[in-house]
Order: sequence, then structure tokens, then C-alpha cells
Amino acid sequence: MGSILVVAEIQNGAIREASYELASVAQSLAGTSGREVKSLVMGSGIGALAEEFSKKGGGSVLVADDAALENYNVDAANAAVRAAVEAASADLILLSNTPSGWDVAPRLAAGLDAGFVGDCFRIDFDGGQFNFRRRVFNGKLDAHVSAIEGTIVATVQPGATPPFEGTTDGSTSDLSVGFEGVRAKFVETKKSDSTGVDLSKADIIVSGGRGVGAPEKFAEVIQPLADALGGAMGASRPVVDAGWLPHHYQVGSSGQVVQPKLYIAAGISGAIQHLVGMKSSNYIIAINKDPDAPIFEVANLGVVADLFDVVPALTEAVNGAKG
Ligand SMILES: Cc1cc2nc3c(=O)[nH]c(=O)nc-3n(C[C@H](O)[C@H](O)[C@H](O)COP(=O)(O)OP(=O)(O)OC[C@H]3O[C@@H](n4cnc5c(N)ncnc54)[C@H](O)[C@@H]3O)c2cc1C
Repeated sequence: MGSILVVAEIQNGAIREASYELASVAQSLAGTSGREVKSLVMGSGIGALAEEFSKKGGGSVLVADDAALENYNVDAANAAVRAAVEAASADLILLSNTPSGWDVAPRLAAGLDAGFVGDCFRIDFDGGQFNFRRRVFNGKLDAHVSAIEGTIVATVQPGATPPFEGTTDGSTSDLSVGFEGVRAKFVETKKSDSTGVDLSKADIIVSGGRGVGAPEKFAEVIQPLADALGGAMGASRPVVDAGWLPHHYQVGSSGQVVQPKLYIAAGISGAIQHLVGMKSSNYIIAINKDPDAPIFEVANLGVVADLFDVVPALTEAVNGAKG
């Protein structure tokens, strides 16, 4: 029998929250599939992080500690994961559905001649096989994908599972990786010159979606409510993709994951990729003119109306109440 291999990611000197979510998925699958959880922690000078991960759900951690892994490089990362798959005799390899996960996972699957399931929000083991669920058609349908045989590489949506809590017995061991085939070269890391509010720290967020209709409407309608409430403005991905707002406003699986006390979603349908970024908010108000919009499923208060009637009226009422 194979093992479950978690590929952990390091960001800003710490193991990413998404990797602890993978550990949680792997630990639960270990119970149902009878497999052992093994993990890969890769980087340079990462012994302490590997040790920490082994105690928090990572199980037997293979440590690829090499200067070649100091900065992200798809070829080097792929070489390390290939070595870990072999050392762990893994038949299920889990990566996060993050930019580096998207980069490595399909190459890994192709190189291993393995099956690939991307962007899962749930994995179960029953009937003697791994069963994956992923959203399709903008979250309108759930696809159930089963792995009938062979090795499977899967990426899991950040935010879809709670991170592993508690402590486990774990161990670390060095993994030797050959980097002969590495052709990609790290050049530099460029940080975006984001000047916006850090949404992850905002207590109140007022987000607008495609329903806001035009870039200037964010300044005219959404930002004034955020200002009145002393909060920050957010957005869904189509708003950012259209160039209406910069990426640091984006809430969701490929934007920021937020957990404010109050989240107001105006003109946002509630696709899973948006929901994973905001569904843990303490109180959610959704304003949408479509009564069947999925955002209402997570809303504490739903307003079926035109946002251009509701949001300015709300702004006026809040400003009026403040005197
Ligand atoms: C790999 C991947 C990653 C993704 N990452 C993200 C992410 O990080 N964040 C994210 O948001 N999305 C993400 N998406 C996109 C996601 O699937 C949806 O397409 C997106 O969230 C939809 O945005 P929206 O709700 O603004 O637009 P739509 O789905 O078009 O919804 C617009 C809504 O506005 C309502 N509306 C229109 N006019 C009004 C009005 N006047 N008053 C009130 N309501 C009105 C409509 O009824 C509708 O419900 C990702 C997709 C993929 C495939």
C-alpha cells in the first residue's frame, strides 16, 4: 500500500496555512484509507519548520534542504517532489491550489504518468478508492471524480478545509535530491507596489462584484459605504481581471482570504472561489437582485434588491446616524 504525501509550502519564512489544511485532509484520509501520512518540506535552512510541520499533522517529514530550493523554481521543486514521491512510495500526492501548486502539480503528474485532479474542495476514501469533489461551471455543479487505479496528484483549494489543529507524533529525515535536469533559473522576486489596506486585517469589508457594472461605480457607490463604516473595500475576481481595481482588492481563492466581523457583498454571485475567501466572516450581508444567487446560502442577512438602491441608502443612513 502506498502513502499520502503532503507537499508543504513555505511563504515569508513560515509554513503556509494551506499546508496545514492539506495535513488535515491527509490525516483524515489516513484514517479511512489505512495509509501513512508523509510530507515534503523543501527550501534552504528549513530544518526547524520541517520539525514543526511533523508535529502538526505532517507525519513523517522528508526534508529537502538545499540552496537550489531557496527561491521558488519549478524544475527544482519538481525534482524534490519526484524524489519525495519515490522515497515515500506515495500513491496520493497533495499540493495546495496555489500559484506554485498549479505550476508543479500538472508537470509532476505528467512525469509520473499519474492521474491529476485539480482544485478539489473535498477528498474521501470509500469503496477502496479515493473520491474527489471539485466545482465546475462557476460553482453551479459539483463534479465527483474517482481514482480507479494508479498514482494520483491532486491540488486542494485553500480555505476549503480547516487547518490541522493539535499535535501529532512526527519525525523528520533528510531527502537527497538530484538537480541535474533543472533548466529554469531564478532571477528575482518582485513585490507588487500595493498601497491598499491589508484586507486580512480589516474588521469591516464592503466588496463589489461584476454587478457593480463599471469601474467608476466602485469609487461612487462601494467605497463610500466602506468609508462610512470605517472599513475597507474588496472585490471579486472579474472586477480585478477587468482592470477595474488592482489585485490586492481581490477576495477569494486566488486573492485574499478574509475573516472580518462584517462582510458586505454587493453584486457578487457567490462562486465557490469567492466564498472560500470570505465565508468565515463573522456576519455576512449579501445584496443581489437574483434571489437564487448562491451568495445567499452563506449570508446571515440577504437583501434581494438592486445594489444601486440599497448601498447609497445604507451609506446615507450610516453617515446620518454618525451625525
Ligand atoms: C482558478 C479560479 C480561481 C478563482 N479565484 C477567484 C477569487 O479569488 N475570487 C473571486 O471572486 N472569484 C474567483 N474566481 C472566479 C469565480 O469562479 C467567479 O467567476 C467570480 O467570483 C464571479 O464574480 P462575481 O460574483 O462578481 O460575478 P458574477 O458571477 O457575474 O455575478 C454578478 C452578480 O451580480 C448580481 N447583480 C448584477 N447587477 C446587480 C445589481 N444592480 N444589484 C444587485 N445585484 C446585481 C447578479 O445577479 C450576479 O449574481 C476564480 C475562478 C477560478 C477558475
